[in-house]
Amino acid sequence: MPKRIIILGAAGSIGRQSIEVIRQSAATEEPLVLAGFSVHHNAKVLLSLKNEFPHARAAYTGDAASAPTGADWAGPEALAQLLSAVQADIVVNGIAGAAGLSASILALQNRMHLALANKESIVMGYRLLKQLADDNDLSIIPVDSEHAALFQLTQKIGMHAIAELTITASGGPFRTLPLERLAEMTADDACKHPVWKMGRKISIDSATMANKGLELIEASKLFDMPQEHIRVLIHPQSYVHAMVRTFDGALYAQISEPDMRLPIHAALHWPHTYPSPFGHAELAGKTLEFFEPERNRYPLVWLARNAMDAGDAACIAYNAANEIAVARFDAARIRFTQIAQVVSETLAHSWNLPVSSFEDIFDIDMKARQISEELVEHIAW
Ligand code: NAD
Ligand code: MG
Repeated sequence: MPKRIIILGAAGSIGRQSIEVIRQSAATEEPLVLAGFSVHHNAKVLLSLKNEFPHARAAYTGDAASAPTGADWAGPEALAQLLSAVQADIVVNGIAGAAGLSASILALQNRMHLALANKESIVMGYRLLKQLADDNDLSIIPVDSEHAALFQLTQKIGMHAIAELTITASGGPFRTLPLERLAEMTADDACKHPVWKMGRKISIDSATMANKGLELIEASKLFDMPQEHIRVLIHPQSYVHAMVRTFDGALYAQISEPDMRLPIHAALHWPHTYPSPFGHAELAGKTLEFFEPERNRYPLVWLARNAMDAGDAACIAYNAANEIAVARFDAARIRFTQIAQVVSETLAHSWNLPVSSFEDIFDIDMKARQISEELVEHIAW
């Protein structure tokens, strides 16, 4: 039986690349079937996907009044309706931001494996999501490239032998910019990523390296590793996605082209290692460089470590504050360097709160958003 796939956030960067993986699988011995998908506002993508995949059911999660006639469901309940009506083997969660957490919960509640690109789900609620997955005998397969790499490495080597994890970062577009010029950088400057073509939020997060902060939390939760045993290295070529060091002193690296279709392909065919049409890394003639990140250029990496030391609620607050600050920076309301200020001042509040239900998570998320919204209002430009 061909594997049936649902793609959430099909018009986004992860969504479009997931569709491409499905498209490319058609002529292979393991074809993947698009069983359903969601778009938030993009009626054009919905209609063109319906045209290309007539059997796929479509949810339009934006305002129902603006939904195209091709949508099977529309409005705030559309995601839940899609996930309860359409049975698939794997759900790709390519929704951006904290909104992705509800989608992850719904996918698991409807008994489907989760290929998880939405790192916010993991940062906010991995313990509860994992419980839900275990209770239903389901897997959470990371799609974020560094974590997809760590997933492969840890499965092949065995967690018991691993002393330390390393995730790499490109360093973003401001890696070599004089520090005093950071404050004048605009959101469009931040979105000119040197390697990856991604959505705006994650592109800005790559420039501040809040993306790596979120990924540190993600790695710590997925692989149950204390943050002091996870390193971040800047690697501008983005060929090495992650490394693990074993107790005997060896370092094992996962190396592939910087192309998100590779981790998506791996996740959709998991647990099989299936031939990929997306090429492989060729190292001859390549120079691979690695640097320690500078603390004053990328304070959000250290703030993420502080959040992890403070506990689960602080990690939720880190994500929420960063989301508010990035949205305000994208709207030219605060400066690039003030993103870290908003996150730091939000984290300075007390986050010693229990996180024992999804409700707790949503409450903490909302509280952190209110605090950071207020901070943004009072920030001097
Ligand atoms: P994107 O902005 O290109 O796409 C996100 C999609 O989510 C959009 O289609 C948007 O309409 C939809 N969406 C936004 N809010 C929604 C809501 N409330 N309900 C339903 N749908 C909503 O972003 P992206 O780059 O594809 O990133 C998606 C997720 O994958 C993020 O969590 C990101 O951190 C993660 N990720 C992306 C990449 C990448 O290369 N793009 C790599 C690793 C991880
Ligand atoms: Mg990543």
